[in-house]
Amino acid sequence: MDHVELLKEKLLLACKIFQSQKLFDGFGHVTVRAAEDRILSTPKMPPGKVSMRDFIILNMEGEKLEGFGEPNGETPMHTSIYRARPEVKCILHYHPDELIAASVVEQGVKVVANCGVFFYQGTPIFDSPSLIVTPALGDDLARVLAGHNSILLRGHGATVVSDDLDELVRLGINLVKNVRIQIMASVLGAPKAHSEAESRSIVELETQGNALRRFLDYYISETLD
Ligand SMILES: [Zn+2]
Repeated sequence: MDHVELLKEKLLLACKIFQSQKLFDGFGHVTVRAAEDRILSTPKMPPGKVSMRDFIILNMEGEKLEGFGEPNGETPMHTSIYRARPEVKCILHYHPDELIAASVVEQGVKVVANCGVFFYQGTPIFDSPSLIVTPALGDDLARVLAGHNSILLRGHGATVVSDDLDELVRLGINLVKNVRIQIMASVLGAPKAHSEAESRSIVELETQGNALRRFLDYYISETLD
């Protein structure tokens, strides 16, 4: 199996995991940098409903080179981020209710649980509900994202980036989980956030050994069983 087919299989599984965790609705998209100048993307359809034959290949301008479906309207978000961040290999854009709720209040995302430690460097808020449908908006968003691994889009959703597709799945699930806990805790009182040092020490543990594998295996079995 060639490199792109393998990437398609991994991307398909990632989409099915997000779907099984109810992180997708009819919208959202996931892309992977398949080569220096090629992007593998879910097409304009509910991303949790894709099959292998649905994926499309885009160039770095977001123009379709291969595949049946059409590019998503917000493709400029992906192309701008890939241009601005050479180390980014994959991008998730989704609209979970919890993240939209966090995007409209000043506190944004606070690291309140161990699942949120990966976001200790902060999750900026793109202060506009606009869909990212032009290169100019894409570049604006990439500027606000800067070196972070996540960004909230006010009243709209969130985007998560990684250099690894397995890690993107972990980040995409954990961002929502952390914010869900943050919302629950806020009902009880002012949540206490992890310090940067506390977060870093847990990130260190979570990036060692088989921690990521164990995380993924659970969600894969929840999705496929
Ligand atoms: Zn969107």
